[in-house]
Amino acid sequence: MRPGLTWRKADASERRAVSAVEERLQMTRTIAIVGAGHAGVQAAASLRDEGFDGRIALIGEERDLPYHKPPLSKTFIKDAQARPQVLRAENFYAAQGIDLLFGETVDTLDLAGRRLVFGDGSTLGFDAAILATGARPRPLPLEGATVSGLVALRTLADAALIRDLAPQAGNVVIIGGGFIGLEIAATLAALGSRITVVEAQDRLLARVVAPAVSAHVAARLRALGIRVLTGVTVSRLESAAGRVEAVLLSSGERLPADMAVVGIGVLPNQELAAAAGIATGNGIRVDAGMRSSVPDILAIGDVASYRHFMTGADARLESVQNATDQARLAARTLTGREESYAAVPWFWSDIGDMKLQMVGLTGGGDRHVLLGDPAENKFSVVHFLGDRFLGIESVNRPADHMLGRRMLGEGFAPGFSLFQAGPEAVKAAYDAFKAGKASSTAP
Ligand SMILES: Cc1cc2nc3c(=O)[nH]c(=O)nc-3n(C[C@H](O)[C@H](O)[C@H](O)COP(=O)(O)OP(=O)(O)OC[C@H]3O[C@@H](n4cnc5c(N)ncnc54)[C@H](O)[C@@H]3O)c2cc1C
Repeated sequence: MRPGLTWRKADASERRAVSAVEERLQMTRTIAIVGAGHAGVQAAASLRDEGFDGRIALIGEERDLPYHKPPLSKTFIKDAQARPQVLRAENFYAAQGIDLLFGETVDTLDLAGRRLVFGDGSTLGFDAAILATGARPRPLPLEGATVSGLVALRTLADAALIRDLAPQAGNVVIIGGGFIGLEIAATLAALGSRITVVEAQDRLLARVVAPAVSAHVAARLRALGIRVLTGVTVSRLESAAGRVEAVLLSSGERLPADMAVVGIGVLPNQELAAAAGIATGNGIRVDAGMRSSVPDILAIGDVASYRHFMTGADARLESVQNATDQARLAARTLTGREESYAAVPWFWSDIGDMKLQMVGLTGGGDRHVLLGDPAENKFSVVHFLGDRFLGIESVNRPADHMLGRRMLGEGFAPGFSLFQAGPEAVKAAYDAFKAGKASSTAP
């Protein structure tokens, strides 16, 4: 056993009860969870919820008690007093008999020996493992991209660094117009920094929202005094004494920068699995039960890539919802349920005075209905492929978002013309659908 790891000891009667449960559910005895972020922590909790009474070891390379990531770019960096919001209180882990190895990096997944190998050569045996290793910021593919003042945001330590640098950062360049970059842009602008956002695509959030939403977000950011440049790339960084000083653009412009934030997407932390011979692509490949190509090794969260039930295409989603729902399913898989992942995808982002909420997978839609009014900073774009409802993107219209979640969750598929009649008509049709469902299932 790995030194310093204390398994919860069971007395004789507990041991009898445990072996009865193990026999009944054919449970695995030791489950190692690699990665203690949103997915890993939920997996540990869900294993207990599902009745798993064996050993759970939760391993994470960060030393902090696992925390919520979304507030880092929204509230944490603007408030010097803000504390991280922990996912579970410290005593939760002890109460649930979850062994914690924080500040530890798993270097090798030894499949033949059924053990994890740590940097210092020590090992931890397992019967099944869940890989919840998340993702890391994609580095800027430029020479000299390691100077200080050039930062990316993924962890609490990253957020603390940005928070420390912000008061002295009069000029900030945000490289990448995705959710995290734009959240930081709005947050730092509110603190008084001069912000320029540099986006290579011809619009912000190009990969994830409709053009109407992109245009709206760009206009509101500009109204906050943020410069938004699209269709330009960073060609070079200028630095002095190891600190970033300016960002040079493909347009020839030189942007002075006391801090430059790189937000150009993430790379899945799949190397551990790939080195063990587990199938990877853009992430660790998993089936609908979250099993990798090695059945007792599961993968969940930002690192997991799977055939999506809504589109039939491969997907690797980066959201709290995806991480926690996959964790719940992985726990069910490991406790003997044969279920398929079918959770409705949803996401949110707070950018300045805009709460963006997305439900469904809206890419590839060819027809759209606009609900509400962008001029009021409250509207939704409903996406269709032909007459097939794909999902909704909302700005400050939470009721549309919630209706979309409920409809997709229950398999109600409103057509294009129904949505054109407005949300009240959709809601009435959905209520009728639910009433019909209830009466057809009534005894
Ligand atoms: C700043 C920020 C804001 C966000 N805002 C939103 C939002 O508003 N809404 C939303 O839905 N999502 C948001 N997200 C995305 C969301 O946080 C992620 O989708 C979620 O964290 C994924 O969970 P995960 O457990 O898969 O990965 P992570 O939470 O990244 O956890 C993975 C953990 O594994 C550890 N690890 C990796 N390799 C090893 C190893 N070999 N050994 C040990 N430990 C290892 C990592 O250190 C990390 O702690 C945001 C993310 C960030 C960074």
